[in-house]
Amino acid sequence: MVTSVISDMDGVIYRGKQLIAGANEFVQKLLADKTPFLFLTNNAEQTPLDLKLKLESLGIHGLTEDNFITSAMATAMFLRQQKERAKVYVIGGGGLINELYNVGFSISESNPDYVVVAKSSTFSFEQLKKAVRFIDHGAKFIGTNPDMIDPVEGGNEPAAGTILAAISAATGKKPYIVGKPNALMMMLASRKLGVHPEECVMVGDRMDTDIVGGMEAGMKTALVLSGVTTTDMLNDFPYKPDYVFNHVGEIDFKSL
Ligand SMILES: [Mg+2]
Repeated sequence: MVTSVISDMDGVIYRGKQLIAGANEFVQKLLADKTPFLFLTNNAEQTPLDLKLKLESLGIHGLTEDNFITSAMATAMFLRQQKERAKVYVIGGGGLINELYNVGFSISESNPDYVVVAKSSTFSFEQLKKAVRFIDHGAKFIGTNPDMIDPVEGGNEPAAGTILAAISAATGKKPYIVGKPNALMMMLASRKLGVHPEECVMVGDRMDTDIVGGMEAGMKTALVLSGVTTTDMLNDFPYKPDYVFNHVGEIDFKSL
């Protein structure tokens, strides 16, 4: 039985700066019914507060910071499970650094246990060189999310995956990447909600991230056609979602 909801945002709640039809009704229904839910994003730059403010600016009110999980949070949760105390060299923004502090890790350039990489708008050759040398000396190589590019106004912007690829090229090592489509991210989200994955439905607009990750985590999956996927594209994938909706406003969780 589905008791809880984990939902993607881009292509589900908004597209660019545009609220998607039915999205506010969807959120208000979750709040009114006291359905446990989380918005899940591969974005590691924005904090839960940034995301709450973004949704408020689109007219969605009543959310708290507890309603969000980012790939930065999931990465910190994962690393804390792996190691109680650790020194981390970070390529990424304040959001990621905060999450690593929150789990008791220290940020260090002296023999770090991990090199953790997210999208960084200030990425430099010096950082690339340091990351490569730390990994060559045995630091474990971690990525928050695999996205190569982020489509932004005016064109594409290189994202975490592009920086990970540069470090991989120089070290010959592959990173372990926590964000979608890794089902680990969905499992950590269900743990944050305090429910089993089987009790969750994963809502998203992408077959190759949201739907495959939710399916592999053991969740029910609901594809919405308000983002990048069209009905015609469904047959291109060797797996299918449990449900397909035009937009989130159509979903009645009690009937899933
Ligand atoms: Mg999406």
